Amino acid sequence: MTENEGENCCSSSDKSNAKQENSSCCSNNNNSVNSFKSIPILIQEKTSCCSSNSSKETVNEHEKTSCCSSNEQHTLEKTETLTNPLPSGEKMAYRVHGMDCPACAKTIEKGLSTLKDIAEVNVNYSTAKMQVAASNSDAFIPIESEIEKLGYSIEPLNQKGNIKTFNIEGMDCGSCAKSIENHLNTLPSVKNVSVNFSTGKMKIEHSGSVEDIMTEVSKIGYKALLQSNKKSIQTVKNKNENGLVILSGVLIALGFIGSFNGISTLMSVILYAIAMVISGYKPVKSAFYALKSRSLDMNVLMSAAAIGAALIGEWLEGATVVWLFAIGNYLQTKSIERTRNSIRNLMDLAPPEAWVQVGSEIIKKPVEEITVGNIIIVKPGDKIPLDGVIIQGESSVNQAPITGESIPVDKEIGDKVYAGTINEHGSLEIKVTKLVEDTTISKIIHLVEEAQEQKAPTEAFVDKFASIYTPVVFILALAIMVLPPIFGFGTWGDWFYKGLELLVVACPCALVISTPVAIVSAIGNAAKNGVLIKGGTFLEKTGAITAIAFDKTGTLTEGKPKVSEIKSLTVSEEELLSIAFTLEDYSTHPIAKSIVGYANEIGIQPKNGEMFKSIVGKGVQATIEGNIFYAGNLKLFEEMNVSLEDVKKHVQDIQNKGKTVVIIGTQIQIIGIIAVSDTIRETSASALKELKLSGVNQTVMLTGDNKGTANTIASEANVNRYFAELLPEDKVDAIKKLQNEGHKVAMVGDGINDAPALATADLGIAMGGAGTDTAMETADIVLMADNLDKLPHTMKLSRKALTIIKQNIWFSIIIKVIALVLIFPGLLTLWMAVLSDTGAALIVILNAIRLLKFKE
Ligand code: AMP
Repeated sequence: MTENEGENCCSSSDKSNAKQENSSCCSNNNNSVNSFKSIPILIQEKTSCCSSNSSKETVNEHEKTSCCSSNEQHTLEKTETLTNPLPSGEKMAYRVHGMDCPACAKTIEKGLSTLKDIAEVNVNYSTAKMQVAASNSDAFIPIESEIEKLGYSIEPLNQKGNIKTFNIEGMDCGSCAKSIENHLNTLPSVKNVSVNFSTGKMKIEHSGSVEDIMTEVSKIGYKALLQSNKKSIQTVKNKNENGLVILSGVLIALGFIGSFNGISTLMSVILYAIAMVISGYKPVKSAFYALKSRSLDMNVLMSAAAIGAALIGEWLEGATVVWLFAIGNYLQTKSIERTRNSIRNLMDLAPPEAWVQVGSEIIKKPVEEITVGNIIIVKPGDKIPLDGVIIQGESSVNQAPITGESIPVDKEIGDKVYAGTINEHGSLEIKVTKLVEDTTISKIIHLVEEAQEQKAPTEAFVDKFASIYTPVVFILALAIMVLPPIFGFGTWGDWFYKGLELLVVACPCALVISTPVAIVSAIGNAAKNGVLIKGGTFLEKTGAITAIAFDKTGTLTEGKPKVSEIKSLTVSEEELLSIAFTLEDYSTHPIAKSIVGYANEIGIQPKNGEMFKSIVGKGVQATIEGNIFYAGNLKLFEEMNVSLEDVKKHVQDIQNKGKTVVIIGTQIQIIGIIAVSDTIRETSASALKELKLSGVNQTVMLTGDNKGTANTIASEANVNRYFAELLPEDKVDAIKKLQNEGHKVAMVGDGINDAPALATADLGIAMGGAGTDTAMETADIVLMADNLDKLPHTMKLSRKALTIIKQNIWFSIIIKVIALVLIFPGLLTLWMAVLSDTGAALIVILNAIRLLKFKE
C-alpha cells in the first residue's frame, strides 16, 4: 500500500521531517510504505475474533483490540438500528394525537403496559408514533379506549393485509351500523365486517380495493374514509381547543380588569375558577390517569400547582398557570406538527392512480391494484406513480423528491425510474418493477420514520437525567412546603407557594424536548435533500467526523473507464487488442469491460483462450495458443521480473495524466500497453471543496490504482491525501490507520464492494442509494443520488444540528437554574415559573425546527 498526502504534503519545505509513514509523500518518489502492512483478514474474521474470543495467531494484540473496539461496537450499533426494539409476537403501530410533551409519551407507555397481555409499549414523542407488542391480537382491543381515557387519541398505522379501518360518516342510529354490515356482507370480496356506531368506525377484512368499499358504503347513503385521513378530524379538534384557550384568556382578563373596576372579589374568583376549569380540564384528566399509572408527568405537576394556588386563595395565579400551560402546549403541538408532517408529506408525492396498458386499452387504476410486470403510461408533466424500467420513449425526469438533485436527469429505454419523480417531457412506457409498498420512495419514508425513532446518545442521556431530576425536585418541593414552617422559619403560606413554584420548575419539558425535535428535523431535512440518515446516533456521529475516505472508482470518478491510448511493441495493434480482448473477456473489472467494449466496437475478434485466472488487485492471465499471457499493472510484471525498460517512461507519462495503464505481455516480454481513463464526476471537485469549507480537513482517496494515477486524480478531485495500490482488504487497514491518527472517519463507497471498509469506519456512507436496495439498508447514511453533491450539505446540517442541540440543552438548563435561584428570594411568581417552562420548551422547539429549513 502506498500513502501520499498529495499537494499539501509535497509543498512542505522540510520533507525530511515528514512522518515516516509519509515518507513516500511526493508524487515522483516511488517508496512504498509498509508502516502498516496489509493483513489479509476480512471483516468476517474480525467480527468472529470479537465474538468468539479465539484470537488468531497472526493478529497481534493491538489489532485484536482495535478489531473488537471498533468493528464489534459498530456492528452492534447497526443491529440496534435495524432491528425492531420490540419483542416478537403480535405488533401494532399507531399514530398518537394530542401529546404535548415527552412526559405524555411516558404516561401512555406506563398506562398501556398495565393492560392484559401487552408485552411492551414504545411511544416516540417526536414522531408521534407508538409501537405495541402483545402476546395475542385481542390484547390490542382495549388500547383505543384506554388511550382516550388518558386524554389522547390514536390511529392504527400498519393496517396489515386486507384488514382496514374506516371512519363512517352519516350514521345517526345503531341500526345504521347494522345496515352497513348487512350490505357489505353480501359482497363476495368481503370476509368480515364490523361497524361500531359509537366510535363511528368500521373494521373490514376484504380482498377488493379501498375505492370499492367506499363506493359500496356510499351506495347506501353513508361516507367511508380510510382511517389515515384523520387530518380533518384533527383540525376540528385543534380549532375547538383554540377556542377554549381564547375563552379562558378572556375570562381571566375580565376578572383581572374587573377587580380594579368595582366587581366583587367573589365575581373575579368565579371568573378565574371557570377559566381554570376550561383550560385545566384536559391536564387534570390526564394527570389523574398519569397518577394511576404511577407517572409523574407535567400534567400532574402543573395541575398540583394550579390546584394548590387556588387552595391558598391565589385564584388569579392558578388560572394563569393553567392558561399559560394550555397556550404553551397548543403552540408546541402546532410547531412540532410541522416536523412530524415533513416526512408524511413525502408520501403524497407519488400519485394514487396510474394509466395501465391492458391489451389495446389504457385504463386508470389505483396503484394498489398494479402488479410487477404491468405496463404503465406516464404523460409529459405527470408524476411517475411506481418504480419501473422505461421500455418505450425518452424524457428528462426530475428526481428531486428521491435524490435531492434539482437538475432533471435524461432517461431512455432501459433506465430505471422512481415513483414520485416528475416526467418533464416525452411520453414514457414503463414496466413496473415494484409494488406500491416496495417503491424507493416508500422505502425512504419507512427508513426515515424508523430512523427518527432511534434515540441518539444525547437524548438517552437527557432522558436519564430528567428521570432523576423530576422526582428529586418534586421531593424537594414537598420538603420545602413542610419543613421550614415546622422549624419556625417563615409562614406556611409563603413556603407552600415556594413549594408550588418548585413543582412547576420540576418539569423538565424544554430539556427533554431539546434533542429529539432537532434530530427529527435534521433527518427530515436530509431526506428531502435525498440523503437518508439512519438515526440520531449517526447524525451525531456525522457532526463529529474529522476525516472522510472516498473510494476512487465509481465514487470520485464515473466508474466507467474508456480506452484512450494504445501502444503496441512487438505485435500489430490489431493482434494486441485481440489478445487483450481474449484476456479481459472473462473479467468483470471495469477496466476489462472498457477494453472488451472498445475491441467490440472496432470489430476485433477474440482468440481461443483457456485457463483464465484473475490476479486480485493486479490483473488477469489466460493461456492463448499455448502461451500464458497476462494483462495487468506494473506491479504484476515487476513481480515476474519482466524487463520494463522499454515501456517504463511511457507508462509513467500515461499515469501522470491520471490514466490507468494495462500492460499486456508474457513472463518474458511486454507486447504492448493500453491506457484507460476514467473521468472524474462533474460534482466531485466542487463537493470536496465545499467539504473543506464545512470543516472536514482530511479528505482521503483509497484506490487500487498506481500512485501516479492516484496522485493526478487526487489533485483533480481536490482530495488532500491518498492511499494507492491497495488490495481490497487494505482499505480496512487504511481506515484504521486514519482512526489511529485520532480521526473520526467516514467512508464513502458504493455500499457493496466497499462493505468491509464501510463497516470499519466510524460512519459508513453509501452513494447511489436509489439504484441499490442493499446500499440503502446497510449504510449509516445513504446519498440517494449517484454523486457527492449533497455530502457537504449533510456535514453542515449535522454540525448545525449538534450546535442547536447544545444550545437547547444549555438554554433549558440555564433557565431552570435561574428559576430555581429566583424562587428563594421570592422574586419568582407562579406564572413566571410556568412561562419559564412552557415558554422555554417553545423556544427550544422553534430553535430546533430551524433545521427543517436549513440550507447550505
Ligand atoms: P482493483 O483493486 O480491483 O481496482 O485492482 C487494482 C489494479 O489492478 C487496477 O487499477 C489495475 O491496474 C489492475 N487490474 C485489476 N484487474 C484488472 C484487469 N482485469 N485488467 C487489467 N488490470 C487489472
